[in-house]
Amino acid sequence: MMNHSGDGQKRNSAMGLYDTIKIKCLCPVCRTENPIFFQTKSLDNKLQILTPGDRISEFDDDYDFLELVGICKSKKCMDNDPDGHGTIIRAKIRLRNGIITNDLFDVTTVGVNNDESQ
Ligand SMILES: [Zn+2]
Repeated sequence: MMNHSGDGQKRNSAMGLYDTIKIKCLCPVCRTENPIFFQTKSLDNKLQILTPGDRISEFDDDYDFLELVGICKSKKCMDNDPDGHGTIIRAKIRLRNGIITNDLFDVTTVGVNNDESQ
């Protein structure tokens, strides 16, 4: 028998669950560095919020980075986006011995000319 809490609705059901990693990131578009809440689906997807220095218990040596997706919501990036949501940023973050580092790499944006649905 499932033991669901009587929440009544499935939040985030459209996107699925994820975890969040909060880290400062230099946006490639607006060139500002601000804290961005990146989502990753590589972990437990329990909606936990992690920051550099946190240990990821379920991954050890075989997992040396996580793939992240976040949004820069600076004024410039909000103005750039026709929909006003900001700039979508993809990045990877290095893990060391299962601990999140500050080492962001492969920081790219998903612009209008980069339709990944094809
Ligand atoms: Zn930006």
